[in-house]
Amino acid sequence: MTYISYDPFLRKENSRFNLLGNEELDNVISDVHKSWPGSSSGEPGVRKGLLQELGNIIIKEKEKHARLIVSEMGKPISQALSEIEKCSSLCYYYANNLERFAKSDTRESSAAESLVYYQPQGIILGIMPWNFPYWQAMRCIVPLVASGNAVLLKHASNVPVCSQNIELLFRKAGFPADLVKSIFVSYEQVERIISMREIRGVSLTGSTGAGSKIAGIAGKYLKKTVLELGGSDPFIVFRDADLEAAASAAVFSRFQNCGQSCIAAKRLYVESPVYNDFLEIFSEKIRQIKCGDPYDPDTFVGPMVNETALAELKEQVAKALEEGAELVVGGDCYSDGTLIFNPTVITNVAENSVLVREEIFGPVIPVMEFFDIGEVIAKANNSDFGLGASVWTTDRDKALAIADRLDTGTVAVNGFVRSDPALPFGGLKGSGFGRELSMEGFREFLNIKTVSFF
Ligand code: NAP
Repeated sequence: MTYISYDPFLRKENSRFNLLGNEELDNVISDVHKSWPGSSSGEPGVRKGLLQELGNIIIKEKEKHARLIVSEMGKPISQALSEIEKCSSLCYYYANNLERFAKSDTRESSAAESLVYYQPQGIILGIMPWNFPYWQAMRCIVPLVASGNAVLLKHASNVPVCSQNIELLFRKAGFPADLVKSIFVSYEQVERIISMREIRGVSLTGSTGAGSKIAGIAGKYLKKTVLELGGSDPFIVFRDADLEAAASAAVFSRFQNCGQSCIAAKRLYVESPVYNDFLEIFSEKIRQIKCGDPYDPDTFVGPMVNETALAELKEQVAKALEEGAELVVGGDCYSDGTLIFNPTVITNVAENSVLVREEIFGPVIPVMEFFDIGEVIAKANNSDFGLGASVWTTDRDKALAIADRLDTGTVAVNGFVRSDPALPFGGLKGSGFGRELSMEGFREFLNIKTVSFF
């Protein structure tokens, strides 16, 4: 196995990297272990300053990192720049809040006095996906180092240069050289890592299949896991919604990053009286999307990550059409020889269609009509996934009642689902467990230690 950096738009290899040997891997883990704790990054006040510096460096170097994203996974440059900027806001958020999150507190109990401490544990393995190569990795690493842990980063094998540059950013900011390490390893070596005593937990963001395998391995060695997995988020538009705003949000949510996002709107449900109007507005917006060269700042949809992903998407669309679904927009490739699939809208989709049951990881969306609240909630929840949901209505009470009944980790009302450093993020069912970001994410891999005086 080799880690290969390949440009999906230019269709050329950038570079390739060998895996670490087992001896080298053991040395890396020993170095990371030595750099934790006892390093100057150990004090919350020091970590705060380092994270501020990290945020500053990211902003200073944003063009370079954004171009790296484009060159390894084909994200349009304007979206790559937003991804990088969001990473810096994550650093500032934890710089501003980590002392509060790390502070011990007292509790009333049967003892004379009880204290609760939040202590780092050591090295956490982060296994990350390619689709937001900086944001996903930083969303895992920044709260971990903010809380005092060390990190081994096993990034996706198609974004090795992003992975190396993420490690470099932490060193540039002044963190100890071995506190955050990018490693190129095989799946077998991942099990070797998880089995080691120095590794105190695993955080995986990726597909449901990978999550299940890693959870199995982590279970075998009794290591704590956080799993951020796939999604098939419903996007529900009621008759009283602002249709124009809902359509714009659905376009952005579904088609940004070429539809390769866990929290993209993947099933669009529209209430019957406004179904036709909405479909017309939505479809027209989709026809206006600029596809093409991801290095062009005006491009909104670029290539898919690789040929396999494109072939899988085409197969899912073909299957849905065979089942009786109908194409409204798109359905074909932008031009021969590219990995760009035109933004696609499909209607007349059955509830058991592949487009509803499976995670569609590309620029394709089914639009379905519904007639009442009970029906749409049942359909929204009838999924193996439970990441997010978007609800569009001007009736606040109705929105809250629906949010209460949706079996998801996040509900966005009159907006699309997005992650925010200040808010807990994560899913249920096949979408995983545990939370990232905010105070909840900060504490996932800490030892919450109780000390009581009797
Ligand atoms: P993936 O194929 O599952 O890979 C994710 C990471 O897991 C990669 O680093 C991959 O390494 C590694 N991996 C996969 N199988 C493994 C195994 N058996 N042992 C050890 N490591 C293994 O997913 P992806 O294609 O990169 O990302 C897309 C998926 O991630 C989608 O399902 C998407 O919904 C999900 N995702 C979820 C969230 C969320 O927050 N819930 C966010 C982003 C993406 P290799 O690259 O070496 O195979």
